[in-house]
Amino acid sequence: METATFMIVLEARALDLGSLPGVYAHLQTSRIDGKRTFAEVYARAVEFGLGAVLYSEHCLRTSTDWFPAFAAEVRVLPLEPCRAFVGTEVKVEFQNGDIDTVPAKTELCDYGMASVHRFPDTNGEAIPFSAVNTAEVVDREFALSWAALANPQLDIPGHMFEISYLRFYVVPSDDQIQALIERAAATSVAVEINTYYHPTPVQMIRWCQEFDALITLGPNAHELDNIGDNVRVLDGLSAS
Ligand SMILES: [Zn+2]
Repeated sequence: METATFMIVLEARALDLGSLPGVYAHLQTSRIDGKRTFAEVYARAVEFGLGAVLYSEHCLRTSTDWFPAFAAEVRVLPLEPCRAFVGTEVKVEFQNGDIDTVPAKTELCDYGMASVHRFPDTNGEAIPFSAVNTAEVVDREFALSWAALANPQLDIPGHMFEISYLRFYVVPSDDQIQALIERAAATSVAVEINTYYHPTPVQMIRWCQEFDALITLGPNAHELDNIGDNVRVLDGLSAS
């Protein structure tokens, strides 16, 4: 297996849906909320035959105390057979698309991911989900993602529409998903195809191909058993 050439960000149009690369672009370790250590995660990635992984540790703009050590731990992992990249997953913090990071952290990352984990009010304070009208959820999530896609510190928007799908059980329109993909293509941001959160990942890849967008493949891997899930799931879907 020629794994050493696998990269985290891929051109959607260059992908063969019947033979997706072994890439895992969204995983966390035991440092914050994952269940396993760096070494265990890396060993599992190698065992599964992955060629590239992105350690996207959850953090805040104030995490500069531990982030350099985290980045250093990833950098000492071997380049082959699986190359490990340094990343971070932060929240979209403000309505204008600012994200919860600072240059001292961003500069240590190969890729910066930001996700809509909450709905900020005009001051950036989280609006309790219990106070959010279900009818507004998709539009709120869309607006935050739209704003963040223009943020130059963002390389990957994590699990788009996750709050809508998983917390409120509402589904965005195809037009809204496509509009975000088109904007991501315009701003050269990679769309995360997340087989855990997105109910139609293959359709999303096809839309990314249509708009000539960049993509990453990666559900959250907090558990070792989840590593490689995206490849397994996408292989099954594209074959069916
Ligand atoms: Zn997340």
